[in-house]
Amino acid sequence: MAEQAPVLSEPLESLDPELAGLISGELERQRATLDLVASESVPPRAVLEAQGSILTAKYADGFPGRREYDTCEWIDRIESLAIERAKALFGAEHVNVQPYSGSNANAGVLHALCQPGDTVLGWDFTQGGHPTQYAADTFAGRFYKGVSYGLRRSDRLVDMDQVEVLARRHKPRVIIAGWSCYQRHVDFEAFRRVADSVGAYLVVDMAHFAGLVAAGLHPSPVGVADACTMTVHKTLSGARGGAILCRSQLASAVDAAVFPGEQGSPLPHVIAAQAVTFLVAGTPEYRERMARVVEGARTMASVLVDASERTGALVVTGGTDVHQLLVDLAPSGRDARSVMARLNEVGISANAMRIAYDAAPDPGASGLRFGATALAGRGGGPAEFQAAGEILADALADGDGLRTGELKERVRALMSSLPLFSYLG
Ligand SMILES: *Cc1c(COP(=O)(O)O)cnc(C)c1O
Repeated sequence: MAEQAPVLSEPLESLDPELAGLISGELERQRATLDLVASESVPPRAVLEAQGSILTAKYADGFPGRREYDTCEWIDRIESLAIERAKALFGAEHVNVQPYSGSNANAGVLHALCQPGDTVLGWDFTQGGHPTQYAADTFAGRFYKGVSYGLRRSDRLVDMDQVEVLARRHKPRVIIAGWSCYQRHVDFEAFRRVADSVGAYLVVDMAHFAGLVAAGLHPSPVGVADACTMTVHKTLSGARGGAILCRSQLASAVDAAVFPGEQGSPLPHVIAAQAVTFLVAGTPEYRERMARVVEGARTMASVLVDASERTGALVVTGGTDVHQLLVDLAPSGRDARSVMARLNEVGISANAMRIAYDAAPDPGASGLRFGATALAGRGGGPAEFQAAGEILADALADGDGLRTGELKERVRALMSSLPLFSYLG
């Protein structure tokens, strides 16, 4: 009998010290960083365990009870558990947990509802939407005719009159509401009325705010929209994957569009990690954490509003009702990329965003987005968000970098008061 190769049981640390070292480097970076990237979160240990489990070895083309293999009895139970938990959490009639990511969820839902060449009306990605809803350089714009709506210039809120005008003019098959960068609640009922008036399907892309919906801190589009797409790793703070919720009448079309329409075998390890995520998201602890997220974003926004004279950064819409805020750097005369680099230098991560009606020449030059999910995930509460807001304000005001050393020290002190992944030693 051939002996099993030792390499199969060797720990990463000794098998591949080079890679192990790189992962440790990233762990230390995460620990030291004030993470204000609005799409990032802190996954629970149990999610990491499920996602790194032996389930990765399994193929499972198909769905529970209808697979192309006979050996899926455990995978069937795992996927059914994830589905049932998601249905209960969101009050959804049908759930597909197989999309590999939020983008794949959008691909699946458009595949289910449209024929190639049909028109899709999505949220302008230069004004807060996501390219995979309609944009020319994504599958959405290649297979469908992509049209987009945006924000009103006056208040940077979604322009429902424009949605209605475009819907009447283009008769879309699908209207997608949902954003990557927006600060206020969207009126899903208003979108529903427009969709009904032109016979379109309504899809809500809740990639960013699904976690707030799960916690009851954001109006739920489930039941208003025909289908909702989401990620499980943004505010939901769990597995690195996507999911689709839909009406039961659309169940078989959505399932067939995801598999075999858009993907091969699902990722059983990720589905298991989704099941854990949905379990956690139903607990009081999670709701309390998400309440800290929303409260924390609001605190940082109000600190930045008060500091706007010295920072030259305007808080778009004057605040936030969700987990993220957006500042417009145009009045400061500085561009987002260089400011982002300065923030990085003191240990803060955030992203530069395109911003609606940017006065600066290069689109995307003036917006910086800050999210609260990761800091709340580390245990941050009112005091930590107040401190984070003040560090941010001082860093934005410190155009010439004179306070870099002091700001670095304040970030270091804040982060070391909130240990991250301490169970990893
Ligand atoms: C992040 C996001 C996506 C894509 O999700 P990925 O997991 O990055 O593929 C789609 N739509 C919106 C609104 C998003 O914010």
